[in-house]
Parts: sequence; C-alpha cells; structure tokens
Amino acid sequence: MAYARIAAVTGANKGIGFAIVRNIALQYPKSSLNNGPLLIYLTARDASRGEQALKDINADSQLRDAKALRSDGGLADIKYHSLDVSSHQSIDAFASFLKKEHPEGIDLLVNNAGVALDGFNGEVVDATLACNYYGVKHMTNTMLPAIKDGGRVVNVASMIGKINKYSPALTKQFESASTEAEMDSLMETWSKAVHAGTHDKDGWPSSAYAVSKTGVIGYTRAVAHHLQKQGRNVLVNSCCPGYVNTDMTKGRGKKTVDQGAATPVKVAVGDIGNITGEFWEHEEMASSPK
Ligand code: NDP
Repeated sequence: MAYARIAAVTGANKGIGFAIVRNIALQYPKSSLNNGPLLIYLTARDASRGEQALKDINADSQLRDAKALRSDGGLADIKYHSLDVSSHQSIDAFASFLKKEHPEGIDLLVNNAGVALDGFNGEVVDATLACNYYGVKHMTNTMLPAIKDGGRVVNVASMIGKINKYSPALTKQFESASTEAEMDSLMETWSKAVHAGTHDKDGWPSSAYAVSKTGVIGYTRAVAHHLQKQGRNVLVNSCCPGYVNTDMTKGRGKKTVDQGAATPVKVAVGDIGNITGEFWEHEEMASSPK
C-alpha cells in the first residue's frame, strides 16, 4: 500500500492520545494537508494495550459511519507499533523501523504520551522528566531528520506549564531561554534542587508535572526557532488539551477525550498557516505561553 502521508501518535492506547488518532482519521479527509492515503501509527508502550486499542479503533462506529477508514473506502489506515518514550532504545528502534518502511520520511508526529505521578521527591521528578520532557525531546530530535518538508510536530503540554508559578529570577531565566541547551540546563537545575531539598527556597513550585510541561513549552519554542534558522519548513508547536476526563485526571476532567483532542488535532492537521514555536489552547494560539 502506498501512503501519501505518515503520522505517529505517542501514548495512543487510551485517553487523549487514542482520541487524537481517531480525530486525525476523521479530519484528514477535509484537511488541506490531504493529498492521498494517510497511515497513522497508534503507538503504545505495552503491546497488549496497544493491540487492543487498535482493535477498538478499527471497530469504532464513528470512524465506520464517516467511512474514514480505508476498508470502508476512506483515507486513513491505522497500525500499532510499540514505543516507550522514556526509553531511548525504544525510540531509536521505532525510528529505524520508520526509516526502513517509509524511506521518503514522515509528515506528522504527535508527542502525546505523558505521566502525572503521585507524590513529590527526586525520584518522581526524574521519572516525570524522563517521559514528559526528555521523552518528547528525544522523540522529536530523533524523528526530525525524517520529517518531510511541510511536516508538523505537536507536543501535548499543559496550561499548567505556563511560567506564572516561578520566582521572578526563574521566570526571567525561562523567558530568556531560547535554546534547547538552556532548557535542558533549567530542567537539570530543577532536578538537582529537588534532590538537594532546596527547590522551594530556590523559587520552584512543588509539582514535577508542571515543571516538565514548562520544559516542553520552552523546548518546543527553541527547536522551532532552530529549524527556522536552518531554513527548514517543519512546524513545531505545543498545546494544552484542557481539563479532560481520563485516567490521568482520575475522571475529574470536564471535557470528553474528543473535546480534549480538538486542540492537538487542529495543530496537527488544521489550517494554522506558518505558525511555529507557539503554545495553543482552546483551539487557538495563546498570545504568550506565560
Ligand atoms: P492518560 O493517563 O489517560 O494516558 C496517558 C497515555 O500516555 C497512556 O497511553 C500511557 O500508556 C501513555 N504513556 C505514559 N508513559 C508512557 C511512556 N513512557 N511511553 C509511551 N506511552 C506512555 O492521560 P491523558 O490522555 O489525560 O494525557 C495525554 C496527554 O495530555 C499527556 O501528555 C498529559 O500530560 C496531557 N494533558 C492532559 C490533561 C488532562 O486533563 N487529561 C490536561 C493537560 C495535559 P499506558 O496506558 O501504558 O500507561
């Protein structure tokens, strides 16, 4: 099967990630990016959960009714591939697989996988950063050489990562951090401060999740500007899905997963002009990620 476009979504076996895959399949036919059949890789770290999700999505009545899937005459095929974004080895294996299967490159990467762990200590901070910050970063940096001209990367962050919860000195540092190395350095400083028990005095909030998402927003801005400088036409944006009813929010979120997928899907396949490096929420570019 020849595909015109290739997409991959991380952490897609459930929650917002699953809904992102489903809604990309539904919206791609109407998208200006539509130039022929689309293959979406629904990726998950656990094979049985990923394969079950693939079965569920292929049986999804909404997709069937909309005839979005190729077996119904539509434009999208969905396949499962294993991917643990906290493991460099797993990311590298997926990248090698894509290179072999799709030497022409890929069009879209949605970094959705994320964790919000209970508790607060150095271990929680490091495990959170490994998935939410370094996972997004390693995925993006590894996949970027294979992303085609006109391609996009969408990093699912959170409005909780806006920089309104840091000391004035740290706020300034986040505002002026314009490179990946500067964002890495801030994340390293944060981890060290928590391990040393000085994070409070140093002006950091006591939330591993929030800081990891601040990192994602800053990294997104940095990598987008780096690509612009290189003259590459790849749009990289971050976004917040809103407060969504998923396992992560223990069912407390107000939005359905489809509503939560709306902003990431707009940034992935909607008309966003040439906007890159920005943070999106409520299906719009936020004026400033602060
Ligand atoms: P869920 O907990 O429902 O789903 C998270 C998904 O990420 C699961 O598929 C999970 O897989 C996967 N995942 C976790 N760690 C890894 C890993 N190391 N490698 C690959 N996959 C992994 O969360 P949501 O759907 O609510 O969240 C999706 C994204 O949206 C996250 O980035 C989250 O931070 C963000 N977000 C969510 C909000 C909300 O209100 N729900 C608000 C703001 C942002 P598994 O099933 O194996 O655990």
